[in-house]
Amino acid sequence: MTLALGVDLGGTNARAAVVDRSTGRIVASEKQSWTDRAPEAVVGETAKLVNALAAKHSVAVGPLGVGFAGMLRGGVVVNAPNLGWRDVDFGGALSKATGRDVKLVNDLSAAAWGELSAGCARGFRDTFTVFVGTGVGSAIITNGALLTGATQVAAEFGHVKLIPQGGRRCGCGQDGCLEAYAGGAKLAEWMKEEGLDGTAVDLEPLAASGHTGARKMYEFVSSQLALAIANQITVLNPAVLVLGGGVLSRCPGMVQIIRETIAARSSVASRAGLKIELAALGDDSGLIGAALLS
Ligand SMILES: [Zn+2]
Repeated sequence: MTLALGVDLGGTNARAAVVDRSTGRIVASEKQSWTDRAPEAVVGETAKLVNALAAKHSVAVGPLGVGFAGMLRGGVVVNAPNLGWRDVDFGGALSKATGRDVKLVNDLSAAAWGELSAGCARGFRDTFTVFVGTGVGSAIITNGALLTGATQVAAEFGHVKLIPQGGRRCGCGQDGCLEAYAGGAKLAEWMKEEGLDGTAVDLEPLAASGHTGARKMYEFVSSQLALAIANQITVLNPAVLVLGGGVLSRCPGMVQIIRETIAARSSVASRAGLKIELAALGDDSGLIGAALLS
């Protein structure tokens, strides 16, 4: 069994895993939380976690894959709003602290790769992966390779605009982004402004119960998200659309609207034979993908 080492790095904790490279199965995993978000502190905690796990399971010195929520250029974190980092050479520092070659990848790229290698898209080479959780993210795999773009920031699907000008303020600093409406954190803010209780996943049942304000908001958010995805299907012609994240995985009505909108609005040729799947690996897709990408 050849072992790979991966880390899924979030805003408050890191999970590390030893993964069987041939099957994508997690052999062992551990988690480490932190309260200090300074880069040196996060590097230190992550290295401690990785080094202990590698020693315990006799993983030979080799590469380390890290899935990271943020905008990256090589091993450098250009911008990570949830940690408050800008231009941090995280890959370099973690490499020094672990003695391993660190491959830093966007968290959605890692998740898409995990689902392609060991999850719902196994056996396919062309996928479009959309996760709606706290934010909205995507990854594009075409002909078996991740689409990175010229400067590694392709597939920032959460920041496509819904209207030509203005709109709700997004965490990226621009207005009118899909994420500013459909991302779980922003949606919850919007619900609060409209006097609706609960978090983003409460909107669907609230709308179904007949609450007029909730229904209007739900219909707007689901139809916009669904149309944006349907248009990407027309552009990308994937074999599999992978849907996941904390909001989508708990809102079956939204998934149904996405299915119906693709059937109605994607070009007929682009959606012929398209499989629409829910991410099968849950919280582990990014962890497994990061390890296998290393
Ligand atoms: Zn944005």
